[in-house]
Amino acid sequence: MENYLDLKNTTDYSKLKVAGEIIKDGGLVLFPTETVYGLGANGLDENAVKKIYKAKGRAQDNPLILHVSNFDMIPKIAQNISDIEYTLMKTFWPGPFTIILERTDIVPDIVTAGLDTVGIRMPSGIIANKLISYADVPIAAPSANVSGRPSGTNISDVFEELSDKVDYIVDGGECEVGLESTVVRVVDGIPNILRPGKISPEDIKKAVGTVKIDEHILKDIETDEKVLSPGMKYRHYAPKADCILVYSEDNEKMIKKIQEITQKYTNPLVISCNENAKYYDVKNKILYGSKENLNEIAQNIFKDLRKVDSFKPDIVIIEGVKNDGIGLAIMNRLIRACEYHFIKA
Ligand code: AMP
Ligand code: MG
Repeated sequence: MENYLDLKNTTDYSKLKVAGEIIKDGGLVLFPTETVYGLGANGLDENAVKKIYKAKGRAQDNPLILHVSNFDMIPKIAQNISDIEYTLMKTFWPGPFTIILERTDIVPDIVTAGLDTVGIRMPSGIIANKLISYADVPIAAPSANVSGRPSGTNISDVFEELSDKVDYIVDGGECEVGLESTVVRVVDGIPNILRPGKISPEDIKKAVGTVKIDEHILKDIETDEKVLSPGMKYRHYAPKADCILVYSEDNEKMIKKIQEITQKYTNPLVISCNENAKYYDVKNKILYGSKENLNEIAQNIFKDLRKVDSFKPDIVIIEGVKNDGIGLAIMNRLIRACEYHFIKA
């Protein structure tokens, strides 16, 4: 295919020059980062960015992140940066970390949804980095998926929904992290986590001595009641089937609760860790990885959520994970995938 570049088994990144030119000229490119695939366009070109919103069916009030490949790009798009903000960038870049900074006038309103701040990230994925370098502009790139669907972590998962909406596709295989970046905004000298990701609260605390997790993230996880949080504004990651998230620190209790629920349905699907799968007497199972390896679960979870509907289940029950490190980010996404139907056993 003419507009498809396979970089899975080669390190000849000079081939990304074509994709860089397409971005510069206002086109859309589907490309891998270390977190998830991105749907990228020239972040300084209003018309190009409009195409992203259209391709995804994304709400116009949901801002985009600008991706940079080096620190020289920062002063053009952000200003009045504090020492602590610099320390965070120097510590976690390149990597799965987004910082919200005061924007400059050059950043189009459509990128920031009219806010006076802009989200910025420097990806560590080498393909993303080279692509931004060739494009020589910040690349606005939300996750590659139609809005509401699980984020794409490989090309085959999103090919059907996006291939005819983009000008070029770069295939880099499976994403390493599998979940979107940690989003942080510094308020009164304290980094606030607005969206959890691979860079954990513990990592941030270690770097700058202090951290706060946004209230709505904690509220979602600490309560099993349905609460209206800002995140609920957009339907997210959800399969068509009804999903229930179940978690208990007591593994036996969690298993028992899930067994109990499965008995009430005719075609239940259970998504669980490898270790617990044998306890569920159901036809349909997806194993998301070992509970001893949260990184593996993070890498698999969006791919697994995309498999759900092919089973045509009448209910999906998903095991939660421990809220530690990247576990907070996994739980944050799963709660949304289950549309806030969360049972603490
Ligand atoms: P996505 O590109 O789909 O990973 O989503 C980007 C997310 O980053 C948005 O949904 C917001 O949660 C966050 N974000 C981006 N820009 C800003 C901003 N200026 N202020 C606050 N949050 C932002
Ligand atoms: Mg997204």
